Amino acid sequence: MRRALAVKVTAATAAASLLVHQQYGDYLASVEASAHAETHLPLSADAQKTEVVRVPSFLSAAEVEDLHELHKELQPLLGSAGRTSGNQAAAYRQGTWETSYLSTDGLFARARPALRQRLLDLAREVDAEHWNVMSRATRPVLPRCVEYHTVEPGGSLPYPTHYDAGSLVTIDIMLSDSSDFRGGEFRTLEPDGSMRSYAFEKGDALCFVSHKFHCVSPLTAGRRNVLVVELWEGVERQCAHRCERHTGECEHSARASLFRRVLNDLGSDL
Ligand SMILES: [Zn+2]
Repeated sequence: MRRALAVKVTAATAAASLLVHQQYGDYLASVEASAHAETHLPLSADAQKTEVVRVPSFLSAAEVEDLHELHKELQPLLGSAGRTSGNQAAAYRQGTWETSYLSTDGLFARARPALRQRLLDLAREVDAEHWNVMSRATRPVLPRCVEYHTVEPGGSLPYPTHYDAGSLVTIDIMLSDSSDFRGGEFRTLEPDGSMRSYAFEKGDALCFVSHKFHCVSPLTAGRRNVLVVELWEGVERQCAHRCERHTGECEHSARASLFRRVLNDLGSDL
């Protein structure tokens, strides 16, 4: 008996050690793959001084509806991540803030190539007029991830100094009517310490330097859907998450994403 238990404990310890070893290997590879690209990113102090640029009605009502339909159609194939109202990793389908990675397996790029190009053109035009951060890149600036967010009551992005580390330009597009929800206001912490809010109506695009601090106040009612596109100096990612590796292969599949969330469920049941 005692011996069987000892064997079990040894096996569990070996598996845990293997997992940590593998995770550390992934971490080292991501640091190495990011080292070059990170040197061209805007410094935090510079990013804070940049302006958020609002492009009203970037998408028509029909185009917004099309994105909801596209998400519904692709959802079973997409990687996802979720957070609870306490901003902890959410178990499978239980988040108050759910993120679906439309860029999983290149699905968004294949399904809506013209919109993908319009988003790239928008970033380039806004950047050239306002910030010139993309011009620092020495390699092509491409989509890191295309995300569809669903926020329900209690969901928020509460940290005033949150930023999209490792990306150059972020585009948020509002896919909900302002009457569909309460709260959920996009805000930026400005260099003078003030918190700035923005008009953000259905179809509008808010474009900003990814390293500018931004947050979202808690949703108090309804549902808020937003499309988020991050552009980076790296390969156009097709993995099922927000990738940390600017170059090289990434194996993170939709299945791996689901498995991680189901494990989370099992963990919270224990
Ligand atoms: Zn990846």
